[in-house]
Amino acid sequence: MLTSALEIPFADGRNFMSQETDLKTLAPVRVALTPQQRFSDFLQSRGMRNTEQRRAVLELVFLEHDHFDADQLLERLPAKGEKGYVSRPTVYRTLGEFVDAGLLRKFSLDGRSVYEHDYGYPQHDHLYCTKCEKLIEFQSDSLLEIRNEVGKAHNFDVRSHRLIVSGICEGCRRGRRRERRKVDLI
Ligand SMILES: [Zn+2]
Ligand SMILES: [Zn+2]
Repeated sequence: MLTSALEIPFADGRNFMSQETDLKTLAPVRVALTPQQRFSDFLQSRGMRNTEQRRAVLELVFLEHDHFDADQLLERLPAKGEKGYVSRPTVYRTLGEFVDAGLLRKFSLDGRSVYEHDYGYPQHDHLYCTKCEKLIEFQSDSLLEIRNEVGKAHNFDVRSHRLIVSGICEGCRRGRRRERRKVDLI
């Protein structure tokens, strides 16, 4: 059963939702620490320093739940020569640290590495529109049941899964139909 859905545009606004779209957000998961505290503990356990750059990237990443790649994050950070500039290699390395610290989830989409919140955000899966590249989040209990049953049948200890369903979203299909109708009238 589909329990919740959330449509999220990419950070650069490429896929901003139309106003008619009904936005439902997934409820955050209660967590003991803030992302900052958790990351600080992680760095300490590895004997690493929490630099100003790491803190700035973390703050930006946790402003709001979003799906983004390193390039989109770089666009939102101060440019070269500006105060607070963070170099590309540092951004890549820092994103990797966030994943290792359990703050971010990383997945592959059309050959790109896409990141989103993991810590404090519920387990969910994605529908991916191959036309406008929009990601729609959903949670499905039936899907989890099937996953667990399959694991059991194989005597497999299921820890997690990732499912991305590709297709064409409602908005893109409607757009296409409208075009076709126009042609039909001629
Ligand atoms: Zn679409
Ligand atoms: Zn998501």
